[in-house]
Amino acid sequence: MTVSLGPGAPVLAFDVGGTDLKSGLVTADGDIVGVQRTPTPVQPEHTEKAVLETITRLGAELRQQHPEIDPQAVGLIAPGVVDDDNGIGLFAENLNWQDVPFRDLTEKAFGLPASFTHDVRAAGEAEYRLGPASQYRNALVVTIGTGIAGAIFIDGKPYAGEGYAGELGHSVIAPGGEPCACGGRGCLEAIASAAAITRRYNRITSVPVPGAREVLERARSGDTDAEAVWITALDALGLGLSHATALLAPQVIVLGGGLAQAGDALFTPVRERLYSHLTFHRRPELMQASIGQDAGLVGAAMRARAILETP
Ligand SMILES: [Zn+2]
Repeated sequence: MTVSLGPGAPVLAFDVGGTDLKSGLVTADGDIVGVQRTPTPVQPEHTEKAVLETITRLGAELRQQHPEIDPQAVGLIAPGVVDDDNGIGLFAENLNWQDVPFRDLTEKAFGLPASFTHDVRAAGEAEYRLGPASQYRNALVVTIGTGIAGAIFIDGKPYAGEGYAGELGHSVIAPGGEPCACGGRGCLEAIASAAAITRRYNRITSVPVPGAREVLERARSGDTDAEAVWITALDALGLGLSHATALLAPQVIVLGGGLAQAGDALFTPVRERLYSHLTFHRRPELMQASIGQDAGLVGAAMRARAILETP
């Protein structure tokens, strides 16, 4: 869906992913223009230098293409462990950086105020503020793609735990089970992420499939291996979300990311499993994310505007 942030300051927004880097310019009306994907310049070490060079170049190009828009701030988001308050990239496994003061470096590169935020928290904030979940004060937005992570909103405010909160994907669902990218075993992400579903099916059957969608299609057409992999993922998601529900009592859980595009095939069985684990707990509504793949850019822009509004 095409989303508008509403009126506010024009800002530049950058979403650094593990493979792609997305860039765009948000107008005073709140529309995103010039959205572009470039490969993330991943380096064996200090990827931050190449990332900063790339966003500086892309920013200059955007300003040249849209001279009528005068951006007042820059919003940058990235994966890994991010200290939003201090604008520091503490750690990003796939991007090879550690303790990088991204906010300060971005401000220096652009000569504009900047924000630096975690990608899932920024995308989650976009979903929470602009999607149907905005009517609730307590919400959890979970992104299920290559990994699984959540953005937590308590009393209408994001909760980040100094960068360490929301790592639902690395809570153990099956002790001693599947090895996980984090070094642990049996994490939710190692069983139920789109990447894990694909990987587990490939391993069991030696049949390479391009993605989780294909595994779901095969499960539907009676492939029992695909069905087993899919059901294990649904069970794990139901259990993982029940733990989050017991702890946070969210009024709504929004599921986004690639896997959420499965729609009812995901939501109906996960809701059923989640509710089956709850007794006296408040039952959260389960909703599908509405903003889609630009949620990160939108969230980055929202954070950039927020720093201009904070005295
Ligand atoms: Zn893990």
